[in-house]
Amino acid sequence: MTDPDTDDADKTQPTAPRPEDARPAPAPPAQASAAEGPPAPAQAAPAAAPPEPEPVCPHCRKPLSLCVCEGVEPIENRVALLILQHPQEQDKLLGTARLAARHFTNAVFKVGLSWPSLEKALGRPADPRRWAILHLGSVDPATLPRGRDIAVVDSKGIPAPDQDTALKGIDGIVVFDGTWSQAKTLWWRNPWVLKGKRLVLAPTKPSLYGRLRREPRREGLSTLEAAALVLSRLEKQPEIETRLLDSFGRMLDRYRDSGLGAAPAKPDRRGRRPFRRRKS
Ligand SMILES: [Zn+2]
Repeated sequence: MTDPDTDDADKTQPTAPRPEDARPAPAPPAQASAAEGPPAPAQAAPAAAPPEPEPVCPHCRKPLSLCVCEGVEPIENRVALLILQHPQEQDKLLGTARLAARHFTNAVFKVGLSWPSLEKALGRPADPRRWAILHLGSVDPATLPRGRDIAVVDSKGIPAPDQDTALKGIDGIVVFDGTWSQAKTLWWRNPWVLKGKRLVLAPTKPSLYGRLRREPRREGLSTLEAAALVLSRLEKQPEIETRLLDSFGRMLDRYRDSGLGAAPAKPDRRGRRPFRRRKS
């Protein structure tokens, strides 16, 4: 596992070790579920404040100009999706976790750092041994089975000899939403994930983020792309991936059209710039 001193502000669903993210850490909010939390606060503008923020979609929590929720028709998925978002993951503009969850009837989105069990995180009974998590440790790409873009590996990153059998009987997947270091934190704060199977992704195409977010590794996918890839393979329904990527593409188009990306990066509430370049 590498531990370089690079500084990424991007957020991906890593499939292999990613550089440390050194974002400043605000106090984490209490955990909340997507279903109940209040919509993002529309802040009253104090005198001489910047222009009022654009209204936010209650579902994806994005400014309405970036929201693509209207075109989303939830898919009835058999393999459940549980997305656990690190409280410091604050990318309201380009984050994809809520949008990903919105695509499925059988999906749960939570914000928090730790849950005592899968059951508590999910809000219903579940056997963690029948769930899978994206492996965060290192994997030698040369050992991955050919012709597959997802594979089950053991705790040392060694692929299971019989992938078809290993991929069977998975009831759901846990996806951590956050930077590489945030995902690692979530991993260690939720030891019940160790009971599950571990999946490695070897996508054949790079993330649609393209240059909007610098990807240190080609297989660094957004949370939405990772969920789309895994669920479409586990359910053997390519359409799942097509539909999610279509929504993601529309969101990115809106982002590019909105000019939000072109505007000079303005500090967010914590004074952090949304996009930072690598320190050199
Ligand atoms: Zn929306």
